[in-house]
Amino acid sequence: MSSSAIELAPPAIMARYEAVIGLEVHVQLATATKIFCGCPAGFGAPPNTNVCPVCLGLPGALPVLNRRAVELAIKAALALNCRIHPQSRFARKNYFYPDLPKGYQISQYDEPLAEDGYADLVIDDVTRRIGITRVHMEDDAGKSIHDGFKDSDRYSYVDLNRSGTPLIEIVSEPDMRSSQEAYAYLTELKQVLQFIEVSTCDMEKGHLRCDANVSVRPRGEKQLGTKAEVKNLNSFRFLREALDFEIARQVALIESGGRVLQETRLYNPDTGETASMRSKEHAHDYRYFPEPDLAPVRVSKEWLGSIRSTLPELPARKRSRFVAEYGLREYDADVLTQSRAVSEYFEAVVAVSGDAKTAAHWVMGDLMGMLKTQGKELADSPVRAEDLGELVKLLARGELSGKLAKEVFSKMFASGDAPAAIIEREGLKQISDTGALEAVISGVIAANPKQVEQYKSGKTTVLHYLVGKAMQATRGQANVTVVTDLLKQKLG
Ligand code: ADP
Ligand code: ZN
Ligand code: MG
Repeated sequence: MSSSAIELAPPAIMARYEAVIGLEVHVQLATATKIFCGCPAGFGAPPNTNVCPVCLGLPGALPVLNRRAVELAIKAALALNCRIHPQSRFARKNYFYPDLPKGYQISQYDEPLAEDGYADLVIDDVTRRIGITRVHMEDDAGKSIHDGFKDSDRYSYVDLNRSGTPLIEIVSEPDMRSSQEAYAYLTELKQVLQFIEVSTCDMEKGHLRCDANVSVRPRGEKQLGTKAEVKNLNSFRFLREALDFEIARQVALIESGGRVLQETRLYNPDTGETASMRSKEHAHDYRYFPEPDLAPVRVSKEWLGSIRSTLPELPARKRSRFVAEYGLREYDADVLTQSRAVSEYFEAVVAVSGDAKTAAHWVMGDLMGMLKTQGKELADSPVRAEDLGELVKLLARGELSGKLAKEVFSKMFASGDAPAAIIEREGLKQISDTGALEAVISGVIAANPKQVEQYKSGKTTVLHYLVGKAMQATRGQANVTVVTDLLKQKLG
């Protein structure tokens, strides 16, 4: 198959077709050790150091199932609204690959851990429910590393540190209809799995991997078209680009009288195109059979109940609670539930300040802005949630003007100190004392005779100008309400 650029069908023709997409997502579980042995499951160790007879696939070595991996898999399946089967079974999926020393992967086949779930996506205020066919457990293979450029100096290496790392595979129904929906679905999976701490979902480290199945059909057609499977989608952007390309390719092919072949295709980020890797005629026959070295996985009601009780509030729930309980706008609630860390930080600020809207404003605005400028994560924030809560409280009580609060905040960010300490040290306390402010106001009145005249002749809006002058004179430290009242009295 040539990889030359395809002729795109015009929008009017594209509009006559509907895309159908189903995703197969692999997620690395955040266990300390591998799924069938005690080797560390961490990332970044020197090649082939985290290995033992089991994960090297040596003859006679027997797997022992990691209970923690099963717990995390169940937790994920519960969060994705699946039915957990009381009994599931591991199966051998046989194939040859240099980084698969056993000659088979231990996966689950006809008796998976969990089935029949869903994820709800909100796109442009419309909720779309995407069905989840199944969630099953499996072990990861090792990694082949290809090195060198010239033929004379080209080597392939195998690193088996990753061999035996615990994975779950989440298979969706063919329920998505656009690259945007697929993107939103993967985003939702990532957010949920991070919230429940089942995986870091770090795509760069391969902790979240995605294969996309795509077909197109004339709009209104009930039957599914022939699908192509696209692999090598290791970023959200690649997923969207690959799907858009693949949908356009299939439509153009059909429009020109061709037929979509059932095949596996690879996305090439350099060209933005997909290219055929293998056709279905060369499809693997995996010769699945039940894994004889592992007993069936039994999940008792009690165990399931205790895992369910560890589930935190999930992002969608949290989002609607933030709107209902705190009166936040949908957009703000969305931003503040992007990660569990942000939502917990925000609620800690609210707990101290008692003012959710102002808290949201400061967390999303000043705090996130400053963190972003300095390339810091929330976890490294020099400002503690309790301290930001104190600041918001002072502001809400009128003990600090907006301008002073900003000044105090930037000093909090620079020093990590509490607001009270900074206000004390820098003498930034608000001036509410009438005696002290009267002198300031007399000065403002004396210096602005024209505005005073205008005010007296009925142009009361000029008061803002005079208040501003008084604020300037006190470097923003005057209490605005007191200044306004005093000015009105004097000019009265
Ligand atoms: P296979 O037998 O090729 O593995 P499956 O039926 O197991 O195919 O489905 C694998 C994935 O492909 C699932 O996510 C499913 O939703 C999706 N899928 C199945 N048929 C289609 C289709 N015609 N178009 C798009 N996606 C599909
Ligand atoms: Zn091992
Ligand atoms: Mg399948």
